[in-house]
Amino acid sequence: MKILVINAGSSSLKYQLMDSVSHDVLAKGLCERIGIDGRLTHKVPAKDAKYEFNIAMPTHSEAIQSVLDALVSPEHGVIADVKEIDAVGHRVVHGGEAFAQSVLITDDVMKAIEDCIPLAPLHNPANITGIRACQKVMGNVPMVAVFDTAFHQTMPEKAYLYALPYEYYENDKVRRYGFHGTSHRYVSARAAAMLGRDAKELKIITCHLGNGSSVSAVDCGKSVDTSMGFTPLAGLPMGTRSGDLDAGILEYLMTKYDMDIKEMLNILNKKSGVLGISGVSSDFRDLEDAAKEGNHRAELALESFQYNVKKLIGAYAAAMGGVDAIVFTAGVGENDMGTRMAVASGLEFMGVKMDAQANSTRGKEAVISASDSKVKVLLIPTDEELMIATDTAEIVGSL
Ligand code: ADP
Repeated sequence: MKILVINAGSSSLKYQLMDSVSHDVLAKGLCERIGIDGRLTHKVPAKDAKYEFNIAMPTHSEAIQSVLDALVSPEHGVIADVKEIDAVGHRVVHGGEAFAQSVLITDDVMKAIEDCIPLAPLHNPANITGIRACQKVMGNVPMVAVFDTAFHQTMPEKAYLYALPYEYYENDKVRRYGFHGTSHRYVSARAAAMLGRDAKELKIITCHLGNGSSVSAVDCGKSVDTSMGFTPLAGLPMGTRSGDLDAGILEYLMTKYDMDIKEMLNILNKKSGVLGISGVSSDFRDLEDAAKEGNHRAELALESFQYNVKKLIGAYAAAMGGVDAIVFTAGVGENDMGTRMAVASGLEFMGVKMDAQANSTRGKEAVISASDSKVKVLLIPTDEELMIATDTAEIVGSL
């Protein structure tokens, strides 16, 4: 099947046209500046070609239309007719407690996704806009929603409940949801495949380390804990996000600097994390360059990040009563051998032994632990689009 994968943001929209059987990416690209002016970057991997166009995109509908035009264009297209697209898979950030897996989009499903808007006020409205635009432009093509939160719905109550008055969970749905679920699901399944084992007999810790970062405990193929929480602000310090902190700090700083909660959250989301500690950058490459030149705060930011990932690995090994494999993925996890080594070294006591040579690789699947390491350490590039395409093909194929 040919599946169009859509990831709609408020002013941008990423797409990939994939063959769900061969897993070939036929075309992919990005619409930017939707609602401002409009820019399309379209790539055709088979030709190693990249095209850029300025196209008016007052709304997401024009953006989707420009994607379809690019896909069928005689010069840079990859299909003869839009009818060749069998289905569309949409990334949706928040499915709340309503969705534990991907689903065919119906009116009821749209209503349930809308009901989750208060839980993800920045993301779900953009995802909904993307779905509606596709429905408008593509008519009755079947569409599937794939949720970032769904994989984590298997967490037990003790892992997802905050120690707040229980009615905030009952009435207001305040609980840990977790994000990056599609990525944790993909890499944990790939890890089992790489090890030639059934996921049902493995305890895996998946470290999705990118601009946003989260770690998950995956026991018997199911997420049993994860570091992001009610929002993607929780857990690890990230590029610009603080991760977990003492809630008392908010009151202290807001009072001292006369800030309202919006200003405070802006600092926690945009000015904290490794950027906040270092004062240099949110990008790990810049931090490594600065650290090499002797910048103490850049070094500290890296160390703090690595230390927190290591602590979570220890916590999740304890939570699962052991660990068979640790996986590194996403921008930092796939590319930054220094961070992988710093996180995994010092864990020899629990059976982790790295292979420096094997670890000096980037961006491709590899076992990076020593051959006699009890716990296997794996580098696995994530592929959320493939997961979305696979789910979509499976659901639509069974209609
Ligand atoms: P997002 O969470 O936005 O999807 P990514 O998973 O693409 O982010 O990760 C982006 C981050 O990966 C960059 O900000 C950068 O810190 C890091 N990164 C990318 N390449 C390298 C590299 N070669 N070395 C270290 N870090 C890298």
